[in-house]
Formats: sequence, C-alpha cells, structure tokens
Amino acid sequence: MARINLEHIRHAYGEKPKSEDDYALKEVHYEWNDGGAYALLGPSGCGKTTLLNIISGLLQPSEGRILFDGRDVTNLSTQQRNIAQVFQFPVIYDTMTVYDNLAFPLRNRHVPEPEVDRRVRETIDMIGLAGWAKKKARGLTADQKQKISLGRGLVRNDVNAILFDEPLTVIDPHMKWVLRSQLKKLHRQFGFTMVYVTHDQTEALTFADKVVVMYDGQIVQIGTPAELFERPSHTFVGYFIGSPGMNVLPASIDGSNVTLGPNTIALDFQPKVAAGAKTELGIRPEFVRLGREGMHVRVHKVEDTGRHKIVRAEFAGKPIAIVVHEDAEIPAEPRVTFDPSAINIYANSWRVGRE
Ligand code: ATP
Repeated sequence: MARINLEHIRHAYGEKPKSEDDYALKEVHYEWNDGGAYALLGPSGCGKTTLLNIISGLLQPSEGRILFDGRDVTNLSTQQRNIAQVFQFPVIYDTMTVYDNLAFPLRNRHVPEPEVDRRVRETIDMIGLAGWAKKKARGLTADQKQKISLGRGLVRNDVNAILFDEPLTVIDPHMKWVLRSQLKKLHRQFGFTMVYVTHDQTEALTFADKVVVMYDGQIVQIGTPAELFERPSHTFVGYFIGSPGMNVLPASIDGSNVTLGPNTIALDFQPKVAAGAKTELGIRPEFVRLGREGMHVRVHKVEDTGRHKIVRAEFAGKPIAIVVHEDAEIPAEPRVTFDPSAINIYANSWRVGRE
C-alpha cells in the first residue's frame, strides 16, 4: 500500500480557464499516509469525484503532480498505478458467475489457481454471498451486484490503494451498515490505503480515521471526527458537520473580548485577527447553555427529536440553535451562556488559533 502525495493539484474541465471559478479543483496539496482510511466528504459539486479520478488516473490534472511512495505517477494509467476502484453503480460481468467475477482480477494478474480459489472464497464470505458462487451475475439484484463490485476491489491484496466512490448508494440501509463495518474491519486487518467518497456525514464519520472535508474545489480540513466537531477550521465545516450545524455569529474582537450585539464575552485566549477581517464567533448548539442566567435570547420554536430538543431562538438579532436535554424546561425569561472552551473565532471564514 502506498503513501499518496498530492502536490499543488489544480483542475479545470474547460480548455482555457479564465478565472479561479473555472477550476473544479483550486489547490490541493496534501500527504495521505500509507494505510490511512480517508473519507472525502462535501456537498454535491465540491470536487470529490474530480479528485478521486485524478488519484486513480482516470483524469489528468491541469496542474500539479501525484506521487505514490515518492514515485511520480501523474502520467500513468489506472492500471499502471495499480489501484482498485469501486464505483456508485456495479461494474461487473453479467454473463460470468459470481465466482468468476471475483476471480477475474486475480487471473488477469496470473495469480496461481489455488491462491485464486482461496481468496475468492474468503471474499465471497466477506461480502455475504456465500451460496451464490455459481450463480450468473445477470440474475442478481442491484444490491448483490454491488457487493460483487466491492468484492472485486477487495479480492486483490497487492494494490497501492482502494478508491470508493459512494459505493453503498444502492445498498439497503441495514446492509449498508453491515458492509461499512466489514470494510472497517478489513482495513484494520490489512491496512490498505483507502479513499472513500461520500456526501453522507454519518458514513464518513463512522468509517474513516481521517475525514477530508471539501468545499468549492478546496480541502478545507482534514481531521478526526472529534477535531471536525470541536475545532472546525472553516465556518463551512462548522455548518456541514453536525445536526444542526454550528452557530456562526457576527462578532467584533478587541483583545480577548468578543462583542455580539449588546453582549461582550471574555475569551480564554486572544485571537490574532488582521485589521479589517470579517470576524465571527462559532459555537455548536450543544455548547450553548440555556437557563435563567446570562445573555438575552428570544425563543421562537422548540423541535423535539425524541432524543433531545432543538431550540430555535434569536440572539443579538441573529438566529441561533440550542440543543437541550429531552426533559429540559424552557424558562419563561430564557438566557444563554456559551461554554468558553467550545468557542471558536473565525476571521474571513477561517479559524483563528487559540495559541
Ligand atoms: P457529486 O457529489 O455531485 O458527485 P462532486 O463533489 O463529486 O459532486 P465533481 O463531480 O468533482 O463534484 O464536480 C466538481 C465540479 O466540476 C462541478 O462544478 C461539476 O459541475 C464540474 N464537472 C465535473 N465533471 C465535469 C465534466 N466532465 N465536464 C465539465 N465540468 C465537470
């Protein structure tokens, strides 16, 4: 398995890009560890598939280089890069049996037949198709076909990386959960470098050790699920991760004091903010305390999710969401305080450190 270096990758689909907006990928420059499980997460159109195709070799980047273990593979084909891919929809041979579909990538590489047999049988068990080995793929359901696709990605153990592009979209919810945990287990066991595209945050957070959040052609944060939750590096990550997302409130900063409308809060750090930058305070709804003390808030609506309540309110003239315990009482004259350690400060949408 390989360490992947993405060096100053930019990509525009059109012939002559005129502005930054014409780039589907604006600047991607990162090193991904050997054996890491990375989930690429972001809204539709942010560039996830473009980046995946550049890694696999289906697409040549307009600018930049890709290295596998220090070797430049930018001009190599997918096959030369030795990568397995699993797409959103099954890519299999309908006229072949389940067994032969799985054996194909191994026979293609002249793996000795006893070894083919061992690995195919292991894989068939793993994807839950034991008993279907001799069936022709043609007669199977979409769900089963996609399991074969997954199996074809997993059956080889000599690949540099396995790339998944929303592979569980057509799988029913229960099986999705089963396959996801199997993938996670296999990853732990074999340590392959895995890149997994999804726009489902639950899928990304439960599956990956590192989540790569993309927004508007850029990677805005690579972090563990806890880092994305506690310290979103960009306001977009704050909105996108979490339900409801982070509250982002316009704020002015003076030393370690932050002012939101009529309220001033003392921070436990002094953010370094350049003059003229647009400054905001980010606080997750889970870390806003609703009670009888603190700053004024006007409650508009309370939504009961069955697990907790989401209070929709107005704070310093702006909408704010507050998550409270299922049994919490909403005071007649509600007020809020913010947990100081959970406050993040943003300048021009990027988080300012709490050195
Ligand atoms: P989705 O989740 O919808 O698959 P994505 O995050 O994978 O989205 P991409 O498919 O990489 O995003 O698209 C990034 C941008 O590039 C989008 O603006 C899209 O319209 C554009 N784009 C993608 N493929 C092409 C293409 N073949 N030709 C022109 N523009 C394209």
